[in-house]
Amino acid sequence: MDETADKLCEPLRRSIEAERVHSAYLFAGVGERPAACALWFARALACTGDGESGDGAAVGDAARRPCEACPACRRSDPGELIPLDGTGRSGPLLRHIGTHPDLVWVERGAGDTRVRIGQIRAMQEMFQLRTVEGGRRAGVVADAEWLNQEAQNALLRLLEEPPPATTLLLVSAQPAGLLATVRSRCQRLQFPPERKPSPLAADAPEEAQAEAARLARIAKLSESELLDWAEEFRGPRQVTAPALTEWLALTAAWLHEKTCTAALAGENPDARLEAWAVLNAGRKSLAQRNANPQMVAERVLFALREAMV
Ligand SMILES: [Zn+2]
Repeated sequence: MDETADKLCEPLRRSIEAERVHSAYLFAGVGERPAACALWFARALACTGDGESGDGAAVGDAARRPCEACPACRRSDPGELIPLDGTGRSGPLLRHIGTHPDLVWVERGAGDTRVRIGQIRAMQEMFQLRTVEGGRRAGVVADAEWLNQEAQNALLRLLEEPPPATTLLLVSAQPAGLLATVRSRCQRLQFPPERKPSPLAADAPEEAQAEAARLARIAKLSESELLDWAEEFRGPRQVTAPALTEWLALTAAWLHEKTCTAALAGENPDARLEAWAVLNAGRKSLAQRNANPQMVAERVLFALREAMV
């Protein structure tokens, strides 16, 4: 973990030391950090700290978990990750962290647009068994914004009646998409956004710069040109939804800069804020309501053109 993550996780470290670990946490924020911290915390929870360090001294210090030396830590070393399949056909519904029997990890199946209810049920079933190692148990649900209503309700039952000595860790880039009842049962850790290179910066990747240049001309595009552009997000959803998500993130960064520049120049930012609202609604409906990527792209492009004329 980097320094920022380290600082953010300090309360978690203290909660292990004080043996006051909650039954559910929400790691909220975009980027890799929230999931990396959830992995760290799950491993730290299972660590028994009774291994030996290289020089033969026992490492029982709770502040140093995971100690990487005890049998639990050796088992929870993630190693190679097996791709999941939410339908259970071409891969498992969930996986263990490393080979640790009491640490489970659920995320969207490879190429899937959802975390499926079957995956939550599989985790639930595992939690009905007794812990194998007799210590604390943890279940991570990464990509929690991709849980549909049904799966969230199944999760809610787990949160309402947490199995003994078990901690659930939800990781979500868009916690607003989770049911309020789910959120309210979790201790929340908010991760600040990682600084993304601006698509307008000279050192931004070439494709990002090209897309920014294309966006800069949007006011001049005709209706049919906008429709053509949106057509680029037509096709199998498992391909077009992630592509659109990425495009929306880039477009959001671009619009953010444009809005700031306009506001600094004393222009009325209302039209741009309006486009901003449409863009965010698009992101949300894509994640939550299985919206058609092409239609979302259309709405966003038209709102952007409106804002930039
Ligand atoms: Zn350990």
